[in-house]
Amino acid sequence: MRLTASILSFLLTLSLSAQERVLRIGILRDKTIHAVLVMSAKGTCAVFADGERKGEIQVNDGLRIEASGRSITAKSLGLSISAKRRIEVVPRTATNGFRMRSVEGKLPERAYPGSLDISLEGGGLQFTNAVPIEAYTAGVVQAEAGKEHAAEYYKLQSVSCRTYALCNHRKHAPQGFDLCDGVHCQVYQGACKQDSIRQAVEATRGMVMVDPDIKLIHALFHSNCGGETLNAEDLWSKQEPYLRATIDPYCRNAPHANWTRTYTRKEWVGYLERRYGLHSTDQEHFAALLNYDPTCRDLYLGNTFPLVPLKNVREDLKLNSTYFSVKTTGDQVTLQGRGFGHGVGLCQEGAMRMAREGKSYTDILHQYYTDVHLVDVSTLDFFREEEAVPAIAGPRRD
Ligand SMILES: [Zn+2]
Ligand SMILES: [Zn+2]
Repeated sequence: MRLTASILSFLLTLSLSAQERVLRIGILRDKTIHAVLVMSAKGTCAVFADGERKGEIQVNDGLRIEASGRSITAKSLGLSISAKRRIEVVPRTATNGFRMRSVEGKLPERAYPGSLDISLEGGGLQFTNAVPIEAYTAGVVQAEAGKEHAAEYYKLQSVSCRTYALCNHRKHAPQGFDLCDGVHCQVYQGACKQDSIRQAVEATRGMVMVDPDIKLIHALFHSNCGGETLNAEDLWSKQEPYLRATIDPYCRNAPHANWTRTYTRKEWVGYLERRYGLHSTDQEHFAALLNYDPTCRDLYLGNTFPLVPLKNVREDLKLNSTYFSVKTTGDQVTLQGRGFGHGVGLCQEGAMRMAREGKSYTDILHQYYTDVHLVDVSTLDFFREEEAVPAIAGPRRD
């Protein structure tokens, strides 16, 4: 049997950890890139063309990979190869990884753990990073959470980013990879450089959140809930038992706790008339829309007919949240808002404060996700195997 790039990549992963999964992340898919320079991050990387090993590159070798017509060419000081479908750069161990920058200068150099798969698509290059899930999680936490947080905060972010990745790993299946590297999935810009994040990922290695049916949860989060989170069904039509409204006293003085937006009376009234067919001649309705002060989170603005859903108002006017009051003084309408984001699941600024105050990451996760369990991902494989036995050998259980 010939050792192809994928088999080598697979064996490297096995040697790293018997259970660690490898995710295929579509990277830089939002850009059109024709040529890149790829280097090994540490030690050597093997180079494959259409699955056949062609040689290797060192830390100081730049391998210039270019789309040229219907093929991909790759050149370094010691290599000159061409591939019809794909070029792969595979490090000796999956944690070593590679560095990459675009030749056209649009992309600053980035280091990635794992291997790189480059294919041709529409005249440009397409990149896929096959990365062990723990290294991917550290990269995502670094990109999504930012610097200088308490260790417990990085731990809970590690658990939620890992859970999200496993729960959504089929999101880009039709395109041939698992997740993209943008906000559509989770922001991922390569290897994590921050020790405190790497330690938090290691401390929670393999840990994910499941619901009572042992299904991975949709670990949604947002910046600031304004003091109260929402039920999932208040935002989408689907109800989730673990995404329930909860009171959050921890985020009230955080950076994104408050916002203000002002309109002229004509702009505000005009919007409500055009969008909802409400008439400003209807005094009773309009009095409520010009001075509206909810005591807790509402789903509708006042009690009009037709109803004005706050989630539509937020979307139309690009407001930070659906949680706001309206006050009219003369010709000026002021929206005084609380929170930032959709308000479902974990409130990041509340969680940061709880972590600073010494709460454990498990307590914080239980504060925002109702009745969830933290389990090692390998136990999920165990439960799946358990389930598979009666499904094949026994009677149907529905
Ligand atoms: Zn995506
Ligand atoms: Zn909050």
